[in-house]
Amino acid sequence: MPWTTIVKSSRDREIVPNLHDYGSIHASFTWEQARQDLEGLRDNQGLNIAHEAIDRHANGAHASHVAIRWLGKNGTIEDYSYGQLQDLTNRFANLLQQLGVARGDRVFVLAGRIPELYIAALGTFKNRSVFCPLFSAFGPEPIRARLNIGQANVLVTTASLYQRKVAGIRAAIPNLQHILLIGEDRQRTAIAGTQDLWTRMQQASPSFAIGPTDPEDIALLHFTSGTTGTPKGAIHVHQAVVAHHMTGKYALDFHKDDVFWCTADPGWVTGTSYGIIAPLTNGITSIVDEGDFDAERWYRILQDERVTVWYTAPTAIRMMMKGGAGLVRKFNLRHLRFLASVGEPLNPEAVVWGQEAFGQPFHDNWWQTETGGIMIANYASMDIQPGSMGRPLPGIEAAIVHKTEAGTIELLENPGEQGELALRPGWPSMFRGYWNEPERYQKCFAGGWYLTGDLAKKDEQGYFWFVGRADDVIKSSGHLIGPFEVESVLIEHKAVAEAGVIGKPDPVAMEVVKAFVSLKDGYEPSEELRRELLGFARARLGAAVAPKEIAFLPTLPKTRSGKIMRRLLKARELGLPEGDTSTLEG
Ligand code: AMP
Repeated sequence: MPWTTIVKSSRDREIVPNLHDYGSIHASFTWEQARQDLEGLRDNQGLNIAHEAIDRHANGAHASHVAIRWLGKNGTIEDYSYGQLQDLTNRFANLLQQLGVARGDRVFVLAGRIPELYIAALGTFKNRSVFCPLFSAFGPEPIRARLNIGQANVLVTTASLYQRKVAGIRAAIPNLQHILLIGEDRQRTAIAGTQDLWTRMQQASPSFAIGPTDPEDIALLHFTSGTTGTPKGAIHVHQAVVAHHMTGKYALDFHKDDVFWCTADPGWVTGTSYGIIAPLTNGITSIVDEGDFDAERWYRILQDERVTVWYTAPTAIRMMMKGGAGLVRKFNLRHLRFLASVGEPLNPEAVVWGQEAFGQPFHDNWWQTETGGIMIANYASMDIQPGSMGRPLPGIEAAIVHKTEAGTIELLENPGEQGELALRPGWPSMFRGYWNEPERYQKCFAGGWYLTGDLAKKDEQGYFWFVGRADDVIKSSGHLIGPFEVESVLIEHKAVAEAGVIGKPDPVAMEVVKAFVSLKDGYEPSEELRRELLGFARARLGAAVAPKEIAFLPTLPKTRSGKIMRRLLKARELGLPEGDTSTLEG
């Protein structure tokens, strides 16, 4: 069914959107000008994310404003003002100095959404070391791989996660120098080979002066997955803060009295760029909820915390839709004025359901780990075509392209033509490389464009529409999963000869990880073996990455060069045409 445009009128709004006139602001925008919204370090000593996020507010009239309101799983509420965050992040930066952790060294954090995660991230920026978040639902194998690829110097984690996921692989991370642990309820910990974070924090000084920071100094390493090979560490620099700040203002429409809730986990890029940095640079209050998704509890948070701007994800929205709009209307959500969504395609039904349940649509936006910030969005001031990702941010040039066999780029300029979504490099939060993998980085560019790996089209009015991924990467509950990482673990099992992993469409999670395996001689498919393999994969990979389904096949379809044809596995699973099978092994 064709969806009608959701028309915005100025009468709908009490607050004038920051991007009140898309056309004129887009036309006159420059990144140099956007940089002027930030303060920069004193005496022209550069640009540091933590200065913009905390110190410049803490050093002024905003010191007592709540920066982060933390909602603990057990009902605890803790407020951290900009002034308090300054004290705590200074202590963390001093602690890093005492440990001899240098500019450019990697500080990994493996934790759920607890205050220490936020303190460590911002303190790491202050020390000009590199913050690398790890999703707490990863199992030991993804954790080990990322710590080694990123050459971790420091790991901050909880005592419980350490014991469950790290202690067993400690010997396989030989270069890790320091492990800082957070005890249950901040009780002191005394585990051999580790240090207690809060003991060290208390001993550290609350004063810290951020050293000169080159805007191109590396600030963040965010792991993402490709079709093949190991996870890739996307490098982001301090200058990215210009894009975080600006997109917070234009795409999420932050205003000074906002209470903002980003439901993403900082283990994934949205939870860092918009769960930590953008709301703080804009000086607003950010809600951090430790708990997992629960529709009713979420509505209560929106109501009780008087959330004004809410940034969430399609999987959560689809789960809320199951509970119906009636449940939403039991809550008083009159403060809520802007709803946004990211991470996967947002179906038009969900955009429109926003209208029915919350009295306003969800605003879809698009970006990825490599882009560091929102690139294409639906804005508060702009009419919405349900199902579209919207239009490029000021400062962003996007196009639909085709890469020829010869490697040249053709622009597909006719409305509705499908091709790869490409962006013109040059915005501040653009990734600067994959850690230690220059070739993989180079492969992302052609003809002066960055190729995103997504297929899309553009309509007459310049709105972009997502079509699908150009590769085999899986999106499950908003998380990007590399099939190779899953296959590598499955073939470690003694019964497995080969494994091929695909994303199987799912009405809520968009895709679930499904594995096909063939067995070694001497092993027979059985329900018991299937369950054993599911458990084996889950123990190693963790719930977020492990397959939900495993099927046995006598052999897997392969190309003549021996590569497993995931595309064919997927087509067969879905009963779709098999496409070009000319390279299929005979
Ligand atoms: P990640 O790097 O984990 O943030 O994943 C980025 C990928 O998620 C993109 O390349 C898209 O494939 C997908 N994605 C993100 N936002 C959207 C959106 N609004 N619509 C469709 N796909 C999206």
